[in-house]
Amino acid sequence: MVVTAFSVALTCAAAAKSAVPVPVPLPRNNPLKNTEQENQQTSKPASVLFSEKKLPSFGRAMAIGYYPRGCLQGGVELPTTGPTWQVMRLSRNRNWGHPELVKFLERFAPLAAEATGWKGILIGDMAQPRGGPLPFGHKSHQTGLDVDIWFMPMPDRVLSKEERENIKASNLVAADGKHVNGKIWSAADVTFIRTAAEQPEVERILVNAAIKEELCRVEGNNDRSWMSKVRPWYGHDDHMHVRLKCPADSPNCEAQPAVPGSDGCDKSLDHWFADWILRLKIPEFGGSSAGLKLKDLPPACTAVLNAPAGPAGAAGAASAATEERPKAR
Ligand SMILES: [Zn+2]
Repeated sequence: MVVTAFSVALTCAAAAKSAVPVPVPLPRNNPLKNTEQENQQTSKPASVLFSEKKLPSFGRAMAIGYYPRGCLQGGVELPTTGPTWQVMRLSRNRNWGHPELVKFLERFAPLAAEATGWKGILIGDMAQPRGGPLPFGHKSHQTGLDVDIWFMPMPDRVLSKEERENIKASNLVAADGKHVNGKIWSAADVTFIRTAAEQPEVERILVNAAIKEELCRVEGNNDRSWMSKVRPWYGHDDHMHVRLKCPADSPNCEAQPAVPGSDGCDKSLDHWFADWILRLKIPEFGGSSAGLKLKDLPPACTAVLNAPAGPAGAAGAASAATEERPKAR
């Protein structure tokens, strides 16, 4: 009863407030109108604007918007070489993320290494320093919560910059697209994917449908509850895409609808093996966001784009650079 009365009072107070709109007079030359920003919103593609920013924005860390339509404030850098990980394709400058993603990777890398017997993991694209659409390669990876991790053990040495540019990840899927490649696939790959799926902050994992089907087959009657997070998607034959849930500090982060409760080892998989789907030439990573304009993103992303560089980002970049030198061969 008390609760009801209280909530009615709250509702009335809110209604009373909104019933009296307070007009805000603006001078003739509206100083709030920023033509430069308006032009920015419609001219260059947002992917170009965001990829030009080499450092993160000032401000507390926050994932803004939706995974394929958003940006990242106060991003942090994952060091390019860690005890159990190495970042690949350094020239892309995509080893940035929300602190939760960096924390996740620093925790997951040793866990995965121990579970699989690998020396460590190879990390592909995360996000640009300020997130946002990417000029090539992905639709998502915009809010600092997505990461691609290769299906390949880290070698027992620090790879050179050139090697990190040129080494190709191993494709686990056979040429027909319907099965895993028995010559490369191993039990460690199952353990690798399961270890990621078991982490509570992981929202979902995208893998090729042939890999998903193989997981269903080998897990058989085991507890497959972890498999509901592992969903089939185009490409993803040489890496898994791990997506984290919206962090608590990011009220403007839009959550993805929850995965269906089932483990996905059912008829819904058949669709992926239809000839016309297999023939589709979807780019390796499942599309591109290169066409989005700044106006297509949440308004806060314009502020993120134009904010000064954050001191944490500059310090992070410097420490990563010095860290790698002594470790190089
Ligand atoms: Zn990805």
